[in-house]
Amino acid sequence: MILRAQTVVTLNGPPLRDGAVAVHGGRITAVGPFETVARQSSGEVVDLGEQILMPGLINAHCHLDYTTMRHSINPPASFTGWISRINALKRQMTDDDYLQAIALGFEELRRWGTTTVCNLEAFPELLPKLPPPPIRTWWFLELIDLRSRVTSEALMQGALSFFESRPDWLGGFGLNPHAPYTASAELFRLCNACGSRFGMPLTTHIAESAEEEAMFARREGDLFEFLSKLGRPMNDCGQRSSFANAVEGGLIGPGWLLAHANELEEPDFALIAATPGDWHLVHCPQSHAYFKHRPFAWKRLETLGVGISLGTDSLASNDSLSLFSEMQAAQQAAPWLTSETLLRMVTTHPAKALGKVGELGELRPGAHADLIALPFAGDAPRAYDAILNNRSPIEWMMLDGNIV
Ligand SMILES: [Zn+2]
Repeated sequence: MILRAQTVVTLNGPPLRDGAVAVHGGRITAVGPFETVARQSSGEVVDLGEQILMPGLINAHCHLDYTTMRHSINPPASFTGWISRINALKRQMTDDDYLQAIALGFEELRRWGTTTVCNLEAFPELLPKLPPPPIRTWWFLELIDLRSRVTSEALMQGALSFFESRPDWLGGFGLNPHAPYTASAELFRLCNACGSRFGMPLTTHIAESAEEEAMFARREGDLFEFLSKLGRPMNDCGQRSSFANAVEGGLIGPGWLLAHANELEEPDFALIAATPGDWHLVHCPQSHAYFKHRPFAWKRLETLGVGISLGTDSLASNDSLSLFSEMQAAQQAAPWLTSETLLRMVTTHPAKALGKVGELGELRPGAHADLIALPFAGDAPRAYDAILNNRSPIEWMMLDGNIV
């Protein structure tokens, strides 16, 4: 099949006018000017007309379990207060409620042009009850060992048996020790070992709130009190920041998808600079605004060469799963960010963080045929701005070579 559009945004070259993408067997086989692609490829031509044809978007941090919690929690005075509130809401939900939340979340992601999602899954035991996900999904198994130890056997069983039984599902499987305040150093090490042995991506929440920072750096604050009362050993607190504690303790490092990093201190930036490798952070602009965290360190992190991706977080701290809204919120907070830079944060950057360079997030031969189109009648160089300013649901999508 040959897809033709007035503008094609590849993300590995300038936008093309009257471009085309040839697709065969779920993969892209050619990209270029329509005349060239049509000469080299065979198959039915689908002419999308006055549209931008581009890669589907990648959401690098989402919790589909909580899709039904939109507007359920007012912006809290404290992060710990929010944790208590979401835990209370979770206790009221049944398995069927969660299954419905996941289905609704997928629907909303699709409506807004997301073809790949990193979903942090708190209830992996529900997965056998789910239909195949409608978009490419990395299921990150959320792990917390505050109350009971997670053994290596349980981890293996959960992570491997699940995915071996679903080879037809699009996407992959990863691990999510929840955060350094809810997952032990031992659990992080186990995840690191699993990740490198089985090539599984790893993600966690890090330096998300001022309270996490107060807990690790100064042994004080609401989160410190809350977790002390739950019986968490607090002997890792009082020496350094949450980020430094996790990096210097060998818990996290380059290669991880590190969500949030809202509360980085000077020594943390120095630590990033001093640690070679590909650092990947996931910023969630609307969730960041909801919690009123300190301004995100865009310029410092860009200077350090950190790959920044965007995520929506969950609807317990956001009112939309649209990555277009996230790009717009990021540009509002940091107006110097160009539309192209922001677009890379929902395409090529998360693709790299998932180890899928050239396969996801750009249009090139060999990449998965995950594409979206949106109306546009302007000149090709204006395409990035048009994408960034999109406020309408996406009406045309191709996933793995199939128009859906
Ligand atoms: Zn999260």
